[in-house]
Amino acid sequence: MVPSQAAARLCSACGMCCDGTLFHSVLLQPGEDSRQLASLGLKIKNRNGQTFFHQPCPAHHQGKCRIYPDRPRRCRQFNCQQLHRLADEKTTEAQALETIHEARRLVDQVEQLINQIEETNPLRSLATRCAAALDVESRGPLHDQLDSAVKILEKFLESEFRVKS
Ligand code: SF4
Ligand code: SF4
Repeated sequence: MVPSQAAARLCSACGMCCDGTLFHSVLLQPGEDSRQLASLGLKIKNRNGQTFFHQPCPAHHQGKCRIYPDRPRRCRQFNCQQLHRLADEKTTEAQALETIHEARRLVDQVEQLINQIEETNPLRSLATRCAAALDVESRGPLHDQLDSAVKILEKFLESEFRVKS
């Protein structure tokens, strides 16, 4: 069991499973009330038999979930590697926070490069914005820098945050 207060502190310093860094969308599960979730501000879409909303999540505000008691099932079920390690006492809150700060530093680096290359839609996930910035005919040194910054970030997210589904 993840200590809830420690998790709340870590999640408010992180937000990467809500802000479009780790995921580009959240799938709703069978039986979930998409109308109620839409009434709470989530922009629900239906495509190919799947119901989902895009990230960055509109309910993510100042490091917190505005609809926490009513959040979708996937959100309730998700704990990243850092929270699992904390629950298993394989890391401490301080170490997890350091890992989060390092991830945020890598994300900032990627965002700065994207912004230097071109204006992308801030309402899209980081991966989508990277792809848009890299999808140009004439590549320059900034594209190479972005390419390598994204690879470093992805490797870090994979080893420290993502979980096998
Ligand atoms: S990625 Fe982990 S630490 Fe970050 S907000 Fe999500 S659950 Fe919390
Ligand atoms: S509903 Fe809440 S927990 Fe789920 S992605 Fe949005 S902000 Fe995060």
